[in-house]
Amino acid sequence: MNTVTLSARGTERQKSGHPWIYRSDVTSAPEKPGLYAVKSAAGKHLGWAAVNKKSEITVRMLTRFEQVADEALLLKRLSSAIDARAKMGIDADSYRVVHSDADGLPGLTIDKYADVLVVQSNCAALEPFLDALLEVLIERFQPVGVLARFDSKTRLLEGLEQNVFEAFGRVPDSVIATEGSVKFLVDPWRGQKTGAFLDQRDNRMALERHAKGKALDVFSYHASFGLHLAKVCESVECVDSSAAALERGAENAKLNNLENMKFTNANAFEFLREHEQAGAKFQTISLDPPALAKARRDLDSAYRAYKEINLRALKLLVPGGILGTASCSFHVSESDFYIMLTDAAKDSGRNVRVLERRGQSPDHPELLLLPESRYLKYAILEVVD
Ligand code: SAH
Repeated sequence: MNTVTLSARGTERQKSGHPWIYRSDVTSAPEKPGLYAVKSAAGKHLGWAAVNKKSEITVRMLTRFEQVADEALLLKRLSSAIDARAKMGIDADSYRVVHSDADGLPGLTIDKYADVLVVQSNCAALEPFLDALLEVLIERFQPVGVLARFDSKTRLLEGLEQNVFEAFGRVPDSVIATEGSVKFLVDPWRGQKTGAFLDQRDNRMALERHAKGKALDVFSYHASFGLHLAKVCESVECVDSSAAALERGAENAKLNNLENMKFTNANAFEFLREHEQAGAKFQTISLDPPALAKARRDLDSAYRAYKEINLRALKLLVPGGILGTASCSFHVSESDFYIMLTDAAKDSGRNVRVLERRGQSPDHPELLLLPESRYLKYAILEVVD
């Protein structure tokens, strides 16, 4: 059998354009993960997909209508993704080269850190084509090394093994990435995600344009926002619960010859509460929490947590102060995010102006028909008075 057949409900979903079809909407699928033709409940050809019977997301549509999905198509999509980045005006040597489904390569993430590439592969159907894709990467980027960061939990759900290894050349423990006016160290082997949070790159550069005075970088990780702020602010205090991330933050400060940075290992919620109660004041605050709503059922508690930190940040700002604030929870919609910010502004008693409404950097493209590809909300706010 070399086709996958959808149920009536799966057929409806496929027609609606969402590229993922779940196991419960699939009538029959081949045992072996791979690229297969997709048929409707009535036996009509619908296109081709990456298929894995073991995965909850059993079918990920690759083409609609007649176009066959094969190695040549995947290689072409990789080349198009690389060409597209060249047109994005990225002011950095480190960016996302492939953003999974949004680049037509489901489950595949490829990040570039200077002359090193890091690959994550979370789709068993694409796994047999990785060597061919690697050849294109080597030819186009001439990297010193390519790291296979095959350690995600999703791989287990796909029935794949976990492993982290050099797929090509040598990958150092630390790579210096350049982003606009700053440099930072990335640990491709052990850092979060593939080593850094590249989706916030343009937001970091945007906040740098508005920042001033005494600044806070809350949920700082290795101080990615903080470094940009330190370039233009009097002082920056970076707050995070990870000591390892802060250590790298301190190294980053040295790398950029910045002597106005301080690193505080603390729970951000407590830090903000204590500083607000003590009447502290800042001119710029960056808030970049981890996803506080991991699932839809977390929405109420996430709303309260997001509102708490944003309300406290607004209260900590002087008139004219700047707040850069993010939510990377897919389950929190853009409108939920602005409702939360509006509620925080109301409770703070301050008049708050929206300077910029932003999202993820363009090297993390979104598909309109795949809402899961649109996850990062970012606002730059000014406390008018
Ligand atoms: N701003 C960073 C990314 C932040 S990711 C960048 O642009 O690169 C979220 C960070 O929040 C992680 O570094 C994590 O260690 C930290 N974190 C998670 N929960 C926290 C808490 N309760 N208090 C302080 N830091 C926390």
